[in-house]
Amino acid sequence: MNLDAALSQAQELLDQGEHAQALLQLEPLLAHTQEAQARAPLLMLLTRANQREGRATEAVRHASEAVRLLERLGEREPLCDAHTQLALAYAHLGLGREALEAALSALSLARALGDAAREGWALARVGNAYGAMDNPAQARETTQQAREIAQTLGLAELDFACLNNQAYYTLDECEQAAVEGQAEDLIVSQAMAQLLAEQALATAQTQGNVFKQATALSNLIEALLVGQDWARAQPLIEHLDSQAQEHHFLNLQRFTLFYRARLAQGLGQTQEAIGILQALLQPSAEPIRPRLRRLGLRLLYELQKQSGQPAAALGSLEQWVQHERQTARQVQRVQTQILLIQREIDQAVARAEHAHADAQRERERSQALEQEQRALRQQLARTDRAAREDVLTRLSNRRHAEQALDVLWERAQIGQLPLAIALLDLDHFKRVNDERGHAVGDAVLRELSELLRLRLRSADLLARWGGEEFLVALLGPQATAAQAVFERLRNAVEHHPWGVRFPGLQQTLSAGVALRGLGQSAPCQNVRALVQCADAALYQAKDAGRNRVCVA
Ligand code: GH3
Ligand code: MG
Ligand code: MG
Repeated sequence: MNLDAALSQAQELLDQGEHAQALLQLEPLLAHTQEAQARAPLLMLLTRANQREGRATEAVRHASEAVRLLERLGEREPLCDAHTQLALAYAHLGLGREALEAALSALSLARALGDAAREGWALARVGNAYGAMDNPAQARETTQQAREIAQTLGLAELDFACLNNQAYYTLDECEQAAVEGQAEDLIVSQAMAQLLAEQALATAQTQGNVFKQATALSNLIEALLVGQDWARAQPLIEHLDSQAQEHHFLNLQRFTLFYRARLAQGLGQTQEAIGILQALLQPSAEPIRPRLRRLGLRLLYELQKQSGQPAAALGSLEQWVQHERQTARQVQRVQTQILLIQREIDQAVARAEHAHADAQRERERSQALEQEQRALRQQLARTDRAAREDVLTRLSNRRHAEQALDVLWERAQIGQLPLAIALLDLDHFKRVNDERGHAVGDAVLRELSELLRLRLRSADLLARWGGEEFLVALLGPQATAAQAVFERLRNAVEHHPWGVRFPGLQQTLSAGVALRGLGQSAPCQNVRALVQCADAALYQAKDAGRNRVCVA
């Protein structure tokens, strides 16, 4: 499967809420996908999958790298998305300030792009940042701005995220009001949280994403528990439990235990509630998330205090306080870890850039090699031509003519075609040299070559056989047609206006012709014999007074 197909399949899994499967699909691709253009979208999907799986540190790692790559690529829209994702990951780690910084980067990019949808998402992440900074009222208000954009543009997913987050922040506000003993605030916040959670659930149900439904349901259960609506809460807890088990939402599965404890407490089953919480808070391989641990320890402390177990209550209180301290230390640890991750990413990006520069150098080198190769090929072609060509007349030389004759002979045999060969020799050419000099002799030979070339087809063989002697071979024409061709050549030479360039010059030639084909009296065994016949015929033409064509 290619990368694009793998990514779109993972995207589908994520859209359906199957994060663990998406992660399995995506992680092996990371090692083989180094090129920035391809790696950035992969990192973005990995961020989402890790986020949903509760692996926020990994999400920060991937989102940070995506930010770096996209900054270098100068792709502003995906860059905005990467900042948005990074903000959420930071918020999940409780790093409010970092989350706010990332969310504000996303927000200013989205506004620069004039992209309202991205602005909505960035605002939602600003809300997440405030949430992480323990400022739920501010978080809810900012998220409301995002939600208005979602509603104006009809963005269902953003709308759900906003509703769900607002429900969550409002539950935080409930908790604050409860701790501070603000009864009226608690009533208002509870009603709001319940309403928001119900709306979020309805929205999630229309989208068919099981994870969203489960988280919305968990918010609704919390709101109902705060409102002490035990009767409505109970069946919803059962439903959430089965959903969380079916889809392996471990965190939500643990939350249902906490809800059961709250329910038991509400129904006056204090001991049962304590038992549930003790089981929940037991150490395990997959550590319980900080928020749930805090909620669990506080509830346990209250229950033990209520049921007259001061020693146990004190123990839980100590654990709770210790947990708060640990959480603060953990945030510092995560901050350090993130710094290290950022440095790793810097190094990786630097390595990738080196690799890119190397690749560029490779490309340049191969271009240079290609050019060299082209030059060599041209030179070879020139050398090849030089090997075939006669330097003076640029006609085929004797060596090439001999090879060409072999080929023509072969074709004549196979195709049962007639082959006519003529040797042409200038008459009294020695005189030209003697009377006008060798240079003029050369010029005459060149002019003759041009004259012959123009009167023959390109398929015919025309070669300088030696000195002032030329060879012509015609494959195909019958004897009379071939003889006519040679006669025309002789005639053309005789009537050529030689005097234009060489005042007073008159030039003729004699030709000896040999034919291979039907009707030939003395068939030749090979092409050399045929040439010899032509040569003999040439002597006859000379003997007979020159300026004529004789056939062997
Ligand atoms: P014939 O009619 O019997 O053929 O008389 P001819 O003078 O043409 O024959 P001969 O073989 O006696 O002389 C050929 C001359 O062609 C000799 C040489 O000077 C001249 N010749 C051969 N090759 C070249 C060449 O490359 N350049 C020049 N200028 N002359 C050449
Ligand atoms: Mg001659
Ligand atoms: Mg000669």
